[in-house]
Amino acid sequence: MLNATLDARDQEILERFARVVATSLRIDPAQVTREANLADLGAESLDLLEITMDAEEEFNILIPQKNILQMAQEVFGAEVLVRDGRLTEEGRKFFAHRMPEVDPSVWGELTVAEFGQIFLNVTTWVRMIRGLIDSSPRACPQCGTPFGKAVAGRVTCAKCATERDLPSGDDLNRRWVQEYYEAEHRQRSSASA
Ligand SMILES: [Zn+2]
Repeated sequence: MLNATLDARDQEILERFARVVATSLRIDPAQVTREANLADLGAESLDLLEITMDAEEEFNILIPQKNILQMAQEVFGAEVLVRDGRLTEEGRKFFAHRMPEVDPSVWGELTVAEFGQIFLNVTTWVRMIRGLIDSSPRACPQCGTPFGKAVAGRVTCAKCATERDLPSGDDLNRRWVQEYYEAEHRQRSSASA
């Protein structure tokens, strides 16, 4: 189901994420492999909440509360990406672009109700965390000092007291979906012109 190769940075994020998951589920971190799935490892909804909060703290990020399909449907409107409980062709294209780590044939095979399982792939979490890290401030824009741990979603420079909010994962997802949506539309209108 996964066709991803992990580079060194993915690998480093995976190792740290594996420790978060293993602590929460009281399992061996070696079980949290890139092919693993949080549900298969025994994570139930309360565990997922804990894993989410612990991963936010570990990586200094804010994880989105809505999944990417919920967000995409808000931007694209009803019945564009999903019809009769399955992805439309447009929906399959969206996911192939957004989640390249998943074998694209999966999107046609599953009903949307079955997607919850895919969103719990360890590799999908690693990719999501990496994207959030890359979009969150790592160092003070005034003096370059690396930010320490966030407190209540806010980081403060230890040297010059400059403050920055961590961007919310939902805002970042919404922006990503909007950019994709606009690019797709531009493409289509230039193709028909
Ligand atoms: Zn500073």
